[in-house]
Amino acid sequence: MRYISTRGQSPAVGFTDAVLGGLAPDGGLYVPEAWPQFSPAEIRAFAGKPYAEVAAAVIGAFAGDEIAPAILLEMCREAYSTFNHAAVVPLVQLAPEVFLAELFHGPSLAFKDVAMQILARLYDHLLGAEGRVQTILCATSGDTGGAAVEAFRGRKNVKLVALFPQGRISEVQRRFMTTADEANVACLAIKGTFDDCQAIVKEIFGDQVLRQAVDLSGVNSINFARIAAQAVYYFTTAVALGAPERSVSFCVPSGNFGDAFAGYVASRMGLPIARIVAATNANDILARAFEDGRYQRGEVTPTIAPAMDIQAASNFERLYFEAVRRDPVETARAFQAFASAGAIDVPPQALNAMRELFRGVAVSEDEVRRAILVTLNETGQLIDPHTAVAVAALRKVEGLEPPVVVLSTAHPAKFPQDVTAAAGVAPELPRGAANLAKRTERYDRLPADAETIKAYVRAFAET
Ligand SMILES: *Cc1c(COP(=O)(O)O)cnc(C)c1O
Repeated sequence: MRYISTRGQSPAVGFTDAVLGGLAPDGGLYVPEAWPQFSPAEIRAFAGKPYAEVAAAVIGAFAGDEIAPAILLEMCREAYSTFNHAAVVPLVQLAPEVFLAELFHGPSLAFKDVAMQILARLYDHLLGAEGRVQTILCATSGDTGGAAVEAFRGRKNVKLVALFPQGRISEVQRRFMTTADEANVACLAIKGTFDDCQAIVKEIFGDQVLRQAVDLSGVNSINFARIAAQAVYYFTTAVALGAPERSVSFCVPSGNFGDAFAGYVASRMGLPIARIVAATNANDILARAFEDGRYQRGEVTPTIAPAMDIQAASNFERLYFEAVRRDPVETARAFQAFASAGAIDVPPQALNAMRELFRGVAVSEDEVRRAILVTLNETGQLIDPHTAVAVAALRKVEGLEPPVVVLSTAHPAKFPQDVTAAAGVAPELPRGAANLAKRTERYDRLPADAETIKAYVRAFAET
């Protein structure tokens, strides 16, 4: 399997280079040259299989012959044995045709664990085979950092620097990141927004000298292996609800659009998905783009679903590339214009292509709080504010073909204040995470300045 850049100016690479490289050298995102396919019979055969086996099949379709199937299966088994639920991603029913897919049973209690646990093992394996040590730079809107720290702490071939926007993530989110004492992990509180953090990471990746000096890599949702790993639960949940005989709709709390785009990938691989709703909070760039075709950056508004406080959804470039029939010249033009002018007008044909699968819905903070309370009252289930964005969005869309799966992306105990305020009930941390508040924190504070952070990364990589 070869990977090409959405901007067409970088050579095609194999799976290893696409994973370890993160962003393509031309600034584009890697996508497979062709989407691997599963037949209905192959999809049907996923029913009843352990999660790790489906993961090995789906990820294996993207790894091709670069990882031996038996080794990949072993990695998947290890990765998903860190989850505290035997089903890994269990389904919970909310209403006759509405289900929650709980993606938060991993070590940092957020859906980012699902991809990060396997990604860390892929990195260690692929780097070890090449005798390399890489520095991973990761901007986090809250949950990626904790998941990355949990996955990469103590790994031999990787050093990890996690950047987070100071004061804009919850204490529990921060503590999952800052309480690892392994020397291969550094956490930076940046005085700025998540978009500032992400812009700095992009700029550092653009510095070819530094990039080579510290063998830089990224594990943000631009990394294709994360997308591949996230496609897995679309298969397991849809099959549990009757696919491939029956198609399934998904409602996805969205920020960087990695999670929802993974559904697009599953659909291209042959899974019958009727519709994917990209649900956003007040940071509604995606909802607006799918509504009227104008993909335009706005001001970032802090909300009670901070992992979605994003006004530039990186993975949208991958969908755009597909929607303009894989025209790299047009994709490069559009996203260079977005970088400079902050807006893209999606051509009408491309918008129609996107709307064959996607809808966008934005919800207010009031609607999110109400969704938390109503869900508790109607089902006894406590949901976190990110999941509640999707539940609230579901109440606003019409004509969604059942059954609908809402992706539940974080454990409510990751956001205790806001959940308690909305529901009148305090969520409890699962066993294992209960002593989080007592662990010692360790992080540095830096201004949102790329040069300062470059110097920090260089020094850390050399220790
Ligand atoms: C990251 C995250 C999201 C958004 O996912 P994207 O792939 O960035 O769209 C939603 N909810 C939670 C809890 C998250 O951590």
